[in-house]
This record gives sequence, C-alpha cells and structure tokens, in this order.
Amino acid sequence: MAALRHDNSTLPAVNPLAVTPAEFAAAYRDVAGVGPALALEEVKSLLRTGRWSGRTAISTSPAKSWLPTLVTAKSEESPEGTVTKFLLRVPGTDRVKLESGTGTLPAGLDTESVLIPMIGQMGKLTYTLCVSSQVGCAMGCTFCETAQMGLIRSLTAEEIVAQWFTATHVLGQRPSNIVFMGMGEPLDNLANVLRAIEILIDHNGAAVPVSKITISTVGRVDGLRDLAKKVNDPGWRRLNIALSLNAAIDATRDAIMPINRKWNLDELRQAFQEFPRYGGGKLMFEYVLIPGVNDSEADARAVAEFVQHFRLADGRHRVCLNLIPYNPRRNSPWPAPTEERVEWFMQQLMDGEVFVKRRRTKGRTMMGACGQLGNEQIRKRQVVAAVGLTVNGQQPA
Ligand code: SF4
Repeated sequence: MAALRHDNSTLPAVNPLAVTPAEFAAAYRDVAGVGPALALEEVKSLLRTGRWSGRTAISTSPAKSWLPTLVTAKSEESPEGTVTKFLLRVPGTDRVKLESGTGTLPAGLDTESVLIPMIGQMGKLTYTLCVSSQVGCAMGCTFCETAQMGLIRSLTAEEIVAQWFTATHVLGQRPSNIVFMGMGEPLDNLANVLRAIEILIDHNGAAVPVSKITISTVGRVDGLRDLAKKVNDPGWRRLNIALSLNAAIDATRDAIMPINRKWNLDELRQAFQEFPRYGGGKLMFEYVLIPGVNDSEADARAVAEFVQHFRLADGRHRVCLNLIPYNPRRNSPWPAPTEERVEWFMQQLMDGEVFVKRRRTKGRTMMGACGQLGNEQIRKRQVVAAVGLTVNGQQPA
C-alpha cells in the first residue's frame, strides 16, 4: 500500500515515549492524511520494531529528537553473558543545590542503565534491564556510588521509557525484565515511575508484562502506601516490589541507610506486610553483604527473625532474599567480601530458614554492578564546591 503523505510542518509534536499509544493517536485525530487509526499503527510499529510504519508523514517528521542521545555503551563479560552499561544524555538543570550553596551543573546530564544477562533454570539466556529513575539520589546509603552525587534531578516518564527503547531498539537487546534498581529511589519519583510503567505495559505499544517489572525501594513507607493503592488497580496487580534491606538491626541500618532513621524496621515490616499481594510470587529482599558492617552471626540471626514475619499461613516462605556481595564504590572504606565469608553468611541464613539466592557479581570492573552507578565528575564538582574552591574555573554561585 502506498504511503499516505502530509505536510509534516503542521504535525503535532508528540513525543511517542511520553504518552500512551491511545494518547498519541488522539493527538492526530484531526490531522488530515493521518487520523487516529494510522497514528496508532505508526506508534505501535515504532515501539514494537523501532521503526515507524511509514504510512504517514509522522515518519518523516523531525524524528529522533524525542530519543535522548546514547553517550556510551560499555560491555563486560560475565559467566552468564555480556553485561552492557549505557548512558543517555538528558537535559541538565539550571541550578542545583550543592553542599556549600547553589551552583550550576552542565547543560546535559547522563542517565545510567545496565543490561544484565541471566541464564534461567532451563539454560535460556535472557536480559534484565536495570533502569534509573533519577540522576543521583537523595537517600545517602553509605555503600552506594550514586549517593555520592546527591540528588541532581528526577527523570521524566519519557526519559525512563527511553532507557527501555534504547536497550531494545538501539542496542538490539530486548529485556525480559525491567528492574528499577539503577540510580535513584523510585518511590522518590513515584508519579513519573508509574507513568513510565503505564506506557511500557500498554498492549498497543511496548506491551511489557507488568509481572516482569520490579520496583525496588530502600523503604520510603509513605511511597509504599501510595504504590499499594495503585497495585490494587486491575492491570497492575502483578507489579513486583523489592526491598533493599541490607540490615535487620536498627542500629546497623541507621548507620548505612539514613532512611531508617525516619522509618525504622518495625514500620517497614508493617508496610511490607500490608502491601497487597495478588500473584503467587515472592517478595524480594536484597541484602548487600559488607565486610565488618552487616556480615556477623547476629546480623544473620536478625535477618532470619525479620523474614519470619513474612511466612504464609501454610508456613511457606513469602520472601526470597537476594544476597549481593558488596561491590566497592569509588573510595570505598570497605573491600568486597571474601568468597568464604559470602558462603558462610549464606549458610547462616539457610540455617535460619531464610530462602536465599546469591546474586552473581556482574559488571564490577566498569562500575556497572549493583550500587556502583554514578557520575564521578558530578561528584567531584560537588566536593570541589563544598570546600569553596572553583568549579571549572568559576566560583560556584
Ligand atoms: S542504594 Fe539506591 S536509594 Fe540508596 S543511595 Fe543508592 S540509589 Fe539511592
């Protein structure tokens, strides 16, 4: 069939990653030569194949300005396949709060995402896409590289969807799972995270099953309660939630995760116990094992006690704990744990009847492993500004 053409200068400028396919189609309702049905076909084609269908002038409009530039994509081999970390350039922010006052950051900022290979039980290789919801993070977890940047800004929904689009259609690696475990605390940017998920799960577009998406939180209890309301909606019930636990003793958690001073383990346990569960899937808890910080026998016992609160009535475990050997951040005060310590701690947990899986370390050399995302340059700017020196030759404003 011949392509229908139209003067593209009159086309509405709609970012296909910022709206649902139905909203995209509606924007072309009154556009001669396009209309909602063809516009829907165009956007469906774009999200499914990476190319417009080419049947309307939409495909000749000044395209790609909606897709952030791919700055770098670095790869590293792991026992399960190739890990790829990639950066997208998004608009910067005029003013940013630095430790010593207010300063200026460059016009462009980079999001960081990682494609992680996973070999399943049947030997099938799939990829999990770890996306960022913010540039930097305000949560200040002491073991995390991102925390060193502070929060620069939250990402918009389209900047989150763009990470999926780039992985799938630019790098050619369609992920089976999406986890919000990159830079940022997703519940700190909940409206944009939910909007991005709404776009990603739309069956007329990317059609990512909601059961393949996981939001991971350090425990913003207010955000968890808001998310719980959304998860009660039809179509959202199989969304997964993960807790970055890392310590089950308040004093230890207070020391490494400042959020625990606002909502302690009791409040966190209660919020997670109340969180609606519709699918049969387990709750995911993550535990970054840091030598000398949270790797003692008492720590393991506390985890076992915490997890016991999440048993089902028939006694089955409701929690799967992912044990993650610490990946040292830049200038880390702690090393990575030894293999023997990881094995020993895992055994302690199993003895305490914790259902535990070990997360294999992937992408550590290129700072792409869990807890290692973050822009060193921004961090340096912040440190320089904090001691009152100049930033790029200029006094911070
Ligand atoms: S671990 Fe997550 S929540 Fe904590 S500082 Fe890092 S990115 Fe933020």
